[in-house]
Amino acid sequence: MAAKREEAAEVLAQGEMTALARQHLVQPWPVAGEIGAEARGGIRSGEGIYVIDGEGRKLIDGPAGMWCVNAGHRRKELADVLYEQAMELSYNSPWYTMNEPSVTLSARLAGHAPGDLSHVFYTTGGSSAVETALRFMQFANNVRGRPEKKLIVSRQGGYHGSTYLSASLNGRPRDHDWMDSASDQVIKLTCPNPFRRPAGMDEAQFCDMLVEEFRDVIANRGAERIGAFIAEPVMASGGVIVPPYGYLSRMRALCSENDILFIADEVVTAFGRLGSVFASQEVFGIEPDMITFAKGVTSGYFPLGGVMISAQLLEDLRRSNHSEAMFAHGLTYSSHPIGCAVALKNLDILEGGLLAHARDVSDYFQSSLKRLEELPLVGEVRGLGLMACIECVADRVSNNPLTLDLEVGKRIDAHCQELGLLVRPLINMCVMSPPLTIERPQIDTMTDILHTSIRRTMDELV
Ligand code: PLP
Repeated sequence: MAAKREEAAEVLAQGEMTALARQHLVQPWPVAGEIGAEARGGIRSGEGIYVIDGEGRKLIDGPAGMWCVNAGHRRKELADVLYEQAMELSYNSPWYTMNEPSVTLSARLAGHAPGDLSHVFYTTGGSSAVETALRFMQFANNVRGRPEKKLIVSRQGGYHGSTYLSASLNGRPRDHDWMDSASDQVIKLTCPNPFRRPAGMDEAQFCDMLVEEFRDVIANRGAERIGAFIAEPVMASGGVIVPPYGYLSRMRALCSENDILFIADEVVTAFGRLGSVFASQEVFGIEPDMITFAKGVTSGYFPLGGVMISAQLLEDLRRSNHSEAMFAHGLTYSSHPIGCAVALKNLDILEGGLLAHARDVSDYFQSSLKRLEELPLVGEVRGLGLMACIECVADRVSNNPLTLDLEVGKRIDAHCQELGLLVRPLINMCVMSPPLTIERPQIDTMTDILHTSIRRTMDELV
């Protein structure tokens, strides 16, 4: 099929693609000096864990697109479902009708979700899922007669999306430097990054500090003003931050004690990335009040996201008997039949062996990458399941961050691409989250390429 496309007259040469992009495309996350005039590396096709770039080079897709191509590229069974569902019913209005794939998928997801998370509200991706969860919290508190209970607690380093309210939760400085946000509605706690914990503190003491900080915020701002706490179980774009042991369950307990909704943002951690459909309970032993998901739900074959909502929350609203209070929130593409049909097939793939495979290779993946710590530039390799981060430092004694202008992540990525691997550079870090189909020899190749690329980067920096 790729060969056919390449033969077709309308396939653009790399140079033409670059020229057209510079004239007509605005890419996500551009800097002002290049906005609307920028070209990025073109990708032509994908196959399993690989993508083929505009020059025909075959690269391991280290970040699985954007943490999403969990089942791997060019899966015929997913492509077939897209086609078949489009031929059966390509769209129906969720305003006044419903479709079978979305109802069936809801029941299957409820079967995997922790606690009483029995219902799903579908969106078009992760940002709209987070936005929906937050607007739902606001609505629920309005209906329940406590309109002042709306503050949202998030964490430094977190990432939750690019719509106005979801972006307001983001905790990386560059997310806010040039952008407006609803900062009066958000409180940000310390990033639970054990690698950056205060000197002299062990991990247990660090965890105590983080929990105490939340307790203090609740005491100072008042539980009656705080509506929700939102957390990625493992912070993804912040640099794959696995929180200290016990952190999530203790934060969950504080939320329960203070009637604060715990929203687990599982846009990255769900659908096999950590070896289970949802990670909250299976990996961390917590039952959130809502879970947001997207990305891996369709392995990126169709834009779909959603929020799992607790039966108790819905029951409370029904009991309020407020017939005029409407949750005035819905998207044209909520419950999209094609997205839901693809998600059902993707779940078949996960349940049919891919979850087990991800669990099987994840220790190997982590220990293989851990070898990179022997390189002096590498401060820490950390991760869980099939997500990992290599953090580079100025020196291994202080672990001080490198200056930003060195752009170490980008340098490593450039070397990796020459050698056949795409990585996701994040300032001084490289993030890895390959398709879950990856095998041990491919993990070895990935680590070898990273090893050589980091060595080359070190040579450049001296
Ligand atoms: N939440 C998390 C944890 C994410 O990592 C992302 C995207 O990377 C989002 C939400 C936003 O998802 P989307 O880009 O699909 O809107």
